[in-house]
Amino acid sequence: EITVGVLAVQGDVREHLAALVSLGAEAVPVRRPAEVAAVDGLVIPGGESTVMDKLVRAFELREPLVRRIAEGLPVYGSCAGMIMLADRIADGRPDQQTLGGLDITVRRNAFGRQVDSFETELDYAWSDPEALAPAGPVHAVFIRAPWVEQAGPDVEVLARVGHGPAAGRIVAVRQGNLMATSFHPEVGADRRIHAEFVSIVREHRLQQSAARQSPERE
Ligand code: GLN
Repeated sequence: EITVGVLAVQGDVREHLAALVSLGAEAVPVRRPAEVAAVDGLVIPGGESTVMDKLVRAFELREPLVRRIAEGLPVYGSCAGMIMLADRIADGRPDQQTLGGLDITVRRNAFGRQVDSFETELDYAWSDPEALAPAGPVHAVFIRAPWVEQAGPDVEVLARVGHGPAAGRIVAVRQGNLMATSFHPEVGADRRIHAEFVSIVREHRLQQSAARQSPERE
């Protein structure tokens, strides 16, 4: 079975662990460099990206995380986690670093300060629409959320806000093994977003064991 870590320096760690367990994955909090090495996939939860960035550096997690992302580790970032995975922050503060990996520019607290949070229904580009789309749109909860202001050519857009002042804004993306949403799927009972990520992790694990069993010959 796969082991999925949840970066546990700050933010809503517990809810993600529970969601992963409900899908049959082994789920473990990740706080130490050695724990980064031991997971098949990683969730970076919502929270506060400036704090998360500082703690990731203080706990010496930044370098092992950046390395594993570059090696193809599947990572799912929600909200602050999306910011951590973004290559660029619009109007970013010079002292805030991200791990990067996703060729996107995010805007923090993009939906406005007067409305701290809102909820809406989203159409989502499921990888297996026959299995997941019939359950209807995603009820998405946004809490001081970022949006994706710009996405590079290799980034797949999975969801956009459907209506209202933010209509058309990109709020879910995937690039290779990296997936990110502006919203918080861990707060409701719908586990389809986590299921999407768990299937990316399982797929990647299978590919890796296949590669180990038949090493390339020169
Ligand atoms: N506004 C937060 C940040 O910039 C993200 C909020 C969240 O994760 N719920 O990091």
